[in-house]
Amino acid sequence: MSFRNFKMVDYVVYGRGAFNQLDEILAPRRKGEAPMIFFVDQYFEHNSTFLARVPLRGKDKVVIIDVTHEPKTTYVDQLRDELTAEFGTVSGIIGIGGGSVMDMAKAVSLMMTNPGSSADYQGWDLVKQAGVYKAGIPTISGTGAEVSRTTVLTGPVRKLGMNSDFTPFDQIVLDPELISTVPAQQRFYTAMDCFIHCVESLTGTYLNTFSQSYGEKAQDLCEEIFLHQSAWSPESDEKLMMASYAGGMSIAYSQVGVAHAVSYGLSYLLGTKHGIGNCIVFDKLEEFYPEGVVKFKKMVDLHRIEIPQGITKGLSDADFEKMMDVSMGLAPLWENALGKNWQEQMTRERLRALYERL
Ligand code: NAD
Ligand code: ZN
Repeated sequence: MSFRNFKMVDYVVYGRGAFNQLDEILAPRRKGEAPMIFFVDQYFEHNSTFLARVPLRGKDKVVIIDVTHEPKTTYVDQLRDELTAEFGTVSGIIGIGGGSVMDMAKAVSLMMTNPGSSADYQGWDLVKQAGVYKAGIPTISGTGAEVSRTTVLTGPVRKLGMNSDFTPFDQIVLDPELISTVPAQQRFYTAMDCFIHCVESLTGTYLNTFSQSYGEKAQDLCEEIFLHQSAWSPESDEKLMMASYAGGMSIAYSQVGVAHAVSYGLSYLLGTKHGIGNCIVFDKLEEFYPEGVVKFKKMVDLHRIEIPQGITKGLSDADFEKMMDVSMGLAPLWENALGKNWQEQMTRERLRALYERL
């Protein structure tokens, strides 16, 4: 038996106001005149107070990232081309935002040193060279993108991450203050990404004690925040930020499962966003995750969250086929959820019936 020897984030700082240390954290990473590039979520575009806190030096630049759609390989390639044309080389890319911005920062960092299109590297261990220095600073918590070894991209033929040992951040800055402005519905959808990661990891066949230890803690934190209380508090942001971190660590050694496998299909065809897409699917997964779904529904009620219904109504056979192709292509997810003989259990008919219920 050989065990995965996985690469982790090099440096972590956690605490309220930790963002203020960014200038000193980046100083030793600067390479001569080459600038640091700050990818900032569009939410902060007109927030001059926040932008003034971004520690710009010399030729450093803020690039506002459009998160209307989840990251596409074309967007990654475009930003890489623009930065290369303007600066030649850069000292690093700093992603300040949610999963979308953090994934953009990881992907562009890698593409600054790897030739071709980011679409060429969607898959497992296809990236051959370390990227430029990269740091991730979440402003919304739940995805675990701050700790994962992937960056999820929609390409011309697939929605798949650039999974590699070069993908994790060199540094993350976890400052719970930064997530306080996330609207309640969005906060819930993204937080549920974490809760669902935990359920999928803890009930999966890939589970080991490493994953279980992180997964249980992350799930407990999610339940403290959403099952045992209905009001927002600063402490709940502190817990949510650590839940996301621990949830991400849990799947580093295991895998996600049915909700993710099905929601990737939705997202590929309909552009449904990851957090809400997982909620739409998980809501209908009693047969796979009975306990988790009961808790999920309680949290939805307690926080008065709306889960969209009937989103696949009226789709054509070709549409269903496309979603099923994307979903069935995610073998490790299905294997984690259902075991080695998953194909016998999850037939196309059963998957189609599931998609029709969404
Ligand atoms: P997001 O990054 O798409 O952001 C959601 C919304 O929240 C956006 O409108 C954004 O502008 C807004 N927002 C961000 N910070 C805010 C703040 N402080 N105040 C108010 N609004 C704020 O959402 P997400 O759920 O964090 O990320 C989803 C993405 O993460 C998807 O692209 C998904 O594929 C990816 N993902 C990646 C991994 C990974 O391991 N790399 C894991 C899971 C999901
Ligand atoms: Zn997820």
